[in-house]
Amino acid sequence: MALDRSAHEADPIPEAARVELDRLLASGDLFRYNAPCDAPVTLMEREFAALLGARYALAVASCSAALFLSLKALDLPRGARVLIPAFTFAAVPSAVVHADCVPVLVDCDETYRLDADDLRAKAATADAILVSHMRGHTSDMDLLLELCEARGIPLIEDAAHSLGTLWNGRRIGTLGRVGCFSFQSYKLVNGGEGGILVTDDAELVARAAIMSGAYEHAWKKHAPDADLAAAFGRWQNRLPLYNTRMSNLSAAVIRPQLPEVPYRVAAGRRNHDHLAAMLEASPWMSVPRPLPGEERAPDSIQFNLVGMTDEEVLAFVAAAGAAGVKVQVFGMSEDNARAFWNWQFLPAESGATRADLPKTAAMLMRACDVRMPVRLSLPELDEIGAVLTRAAAEAARAYGT
Ligand SMILES: *Cc1c(COP(=O)(O)O)cnc(C)c1O
Repeated sequence: MALDRSAHEADPIPEAARVELDRLLASGDLFRYNAPCDAPVTLMEREFAALLGARYALAVASCSAALFLSLKALDLPRGARVLIPAFTFAAVPSAVVHADCVPVLVDCDETYRLDADDLRAKAATADAILVSHMRGHTSDMDLLLELCEARGIPLIEDAAHSLGTLWNGRRIGTLGRVGCFSFQSYKLVNGGEGGILVTDDAELVARAAIMSGAYEHAWKKHAPDADLAAAFGRWQNRLPLYNTRMSNLSAAVIRPQLPEVPYRVAAGRRNHDHLAAMLEASPWMSVPRPLPGEERAPDSIQFNLVGMTDEEVLAFVAAAGAAGVKVQVFGMSEDNARAFWNWQFLPAESGATRADLPKTAAMLMRACDVRMPVRLSLPELDEIGAVLTRAAAEAARAYGT
């Protein structure tokens, strides 16, 4: 079915990447620290920092590696309590565990954002907050910044799904001490794999760069300013290496996509709002609104099924799938990596039982996720909207709700 292919396949990579890839393959120059300066990874870091308006950027193998290195670079003590949303991807609590810290889960409500009361209560004993803007839904950044400032603790942003999102005109990923982004294939910029962190903090980025694998004096190839050179000098030989760098091949694929970000953000928002208006017209579906001050950059849509039993939810997913639209209900598919009860590697102090996190637990059983590639046309979105609306009505009718 045409809709199925269009809605679920990847976008092609801009043609300009091929010329650069050919050049790299012909020269064999794939390692970021081979050339004396201006390697594709270094140029990409500079371009990404400029796009975000951040002072420094460090490209690494994944957003998960960027999160892990951020925590290590902040030098949090072993066992530090790091608040994370209970609604996020398994990589987020994993990064905290790998950094020898304890993730403490904060309940999320039916808008997919942090519950303010639970956040305030748990912030009282937190050593850091790692806010994951899950699926690009921004939690109240003013409250988060206020809580972190009051306790003097760092805010780390997992902005993997938030490239291009604004909060009162400021770029998400630049509000905390450090912001992390992903170039994994399902994100706005597709590098296959890859991640990047942005920060204005020279000390933090120097520590992260050395641990990422800038061994010996490779850091000089980052074209450091005076602050960064001083920070690198202080940390030379004093940190263990994880060797989780980005290769020039990934940078070559990523760079020509960066100038497309503003277009992709605008198209994604237009597509999302068009489809959201259609779904809102159904009595069975509700689409959470952005917060005041939030300008979203969605590349997928989330909505809640309302007034349905578990059986009806499953019937809806089956009917939509049969008509060519894949829907994921986070809490209803086996071993879903976004359902906190599957993070069985967490210690008891994380507070990760359904009883600890009642709002998230309820939300995950009704929250639907549909991919929405930027290139979809309005007629294709109309078709997706019609399929979802019909599937919801049929599921509810079949079971007599
Ligand atoms: C994809 C994603 C990650 C992990 O990104 P990788 O680059 O695959 O490590 C982390 N957090 C969120 C919210 C994500 O969507």
